[in-house]
Amino acid sequence: MTSSIQLYNTLSRKKENFEPLNAPHVGMYVCGPTVYGDPHLGHARPAVTFDLLFRYLTYCGYKVRYVRNITDVGHLENDADAGEDKVAKKARIERQEPMEVAQRYANRYHDAMRLLNVLPPSIEPCASGHIIEQIALVQEILKSGFAYEVSGSVYFDVAAYSKKYTYGKLSGRVLDDLMANTRNLDGQDDKRNPFDFALWKKASPEHIMRWASPWGDGFPGWHLECSAMSTKYLGETFDIHGGGLDLIFPHHECEIAQSVAACGHDAVRMWVHNNMITINGQKMGKSLGNFITLEELFGGSHRLLAQPYSPMTIRFFILQAHYRSTLDFSNEALQAAEKGLQRLLAAQKTLAHLKPSSKSTLDVPRFMASCRAALNDDLNTALALATIAEWIKNINSVKAGAETLTAADAALLSKDFTTVTTDILGIKDDSQADAEKKDLATDLINILLNLRLQAKAAKDFSTSDKIRNELAALGVTVKDTKESFEWSIA
Ligand code: ZN
Repeated sequence: MTSSIQLYNTLSRKKENFEPLNAPHVGMYVCGPTVYGDPHLGHARPAVTFDLLFRYLTYCGYKVRYVRNITDVGHLENDADAGEDKVAKKARIERQEPMEVAQRYANRYHDAMRLLNVLPPSIEPCASGHIIEQIALVQEILKSGFAYEVSGSVYFDVAAYSKKYTYGKLSGRVLDDLMANTRNLDGQDDKRNPFDFALWKKASPEHIMRWASPWGDGFPGWHLECSAMSTKYLGETFDIHGGGLDLIFPHHECEIAQSVAACGHDAVRMWVHNNMITINGQKMGKSLGNFITLEELFGGSHRLLAQPYSPMTIRFFILQAHYRSTLDFSNEALQAAEKGLQRLLAAQKTLAHLKPSSKSTLDVPRFMASCRAALNDDLNTALALATIAEWIKNINSVKAGAETLTAADAALLSKDFTTVTTDILGIKDDSQADAEKKDLATDLINILLNLRLQAKAAKDFSTSDKIRNELAALGVTVKDTKESFEWSIA
């Protein structure tokens, strides 16, 4: 299988033809969430970006093994090697088992992903479930001479590594600059150099997440899990590694160093990074008061939000920008996305009821060809959505009679439009799912209340009261009328 897909490789700093190592199989690894808090806006963009890549490669005929991890141990507060473990800290504050915290927030993350119509990955490994693999990887790196042990902790030896390989090649950081810019250690650290990073950390007596290792009780460093789990599920070399731009340094740089140190070669063929989200032009951060969780966004409950925004509006909004461009959230931009989404959904419905003509005035195959050309060009969703907008106008012109389509062309356009918008871009009418649920509830309540009417007619008052009381307990108030009933939901 040859592919005409081009992707921008952060490592080579250019667009490259996507040629999987072992087509049609594709191995893709994406750094997933650290589960110690509610999923937020920052989680939405990488999730949607790599969901799109997963969907598009699948559409193109590839068999994608998509691995997205869950970080439930080892992610320390300052993203490097210091501070408390984020999950353990939350567990201490909330007086729960760390795994209880991790599970709760992983569940919330999954709920939010379902609402955003993000498909589940093929494999979702968690760091705490792969301690054995991580210990084995530390041993490999020690054996190859690029790590050292100091009183129960093991650190990666960046200076030794740099003598043989290039540390910093992904981020473009130069070791000499790193050395010059790093503050001297104040003696609290066991590291030989400030830029060395932990592969394994000794657990202090109060540290609750701990495992036995050849170096004593401890826990893995954050960067280790992704190297260990990607190798385990995708092999020593695989096609795509993704994540947000903010992960390039130190996380992905350290992943590269670990894999090269252990195997002697790069593990990843293409590094793909999505750009970040800003809010009204500012970086999102807890200290800036513009930290918005997805629940707040969907419910409109944050002070910066003028209204709730549906998950599909958020998905549409994210796709309107190319994944490597910055994306700024504002009420105006979200409201515009909401309108764009409505136009798209309306066109889907219009397409199903177009009146066919004896000839076509539109070149229907061009629609799919243009969308594919846009997506083949490094997933240019901005261009794909511009093409879709142009065709929404065409669809409305056919409806108005200004353009015409044969029955076969109308069917082709309907099929292609659905394939691009629903299957590839993952845009669906989420208001419809709610409406369907509401319809079902209405029907079920009416069935019960008709049974109650029959019970009353048969003077079976215990059944009739039971139905009324149990509905009342669910918040359904029933009012008897002369012949029938009325009901409302509180
Ligand atoms: Zn990672």
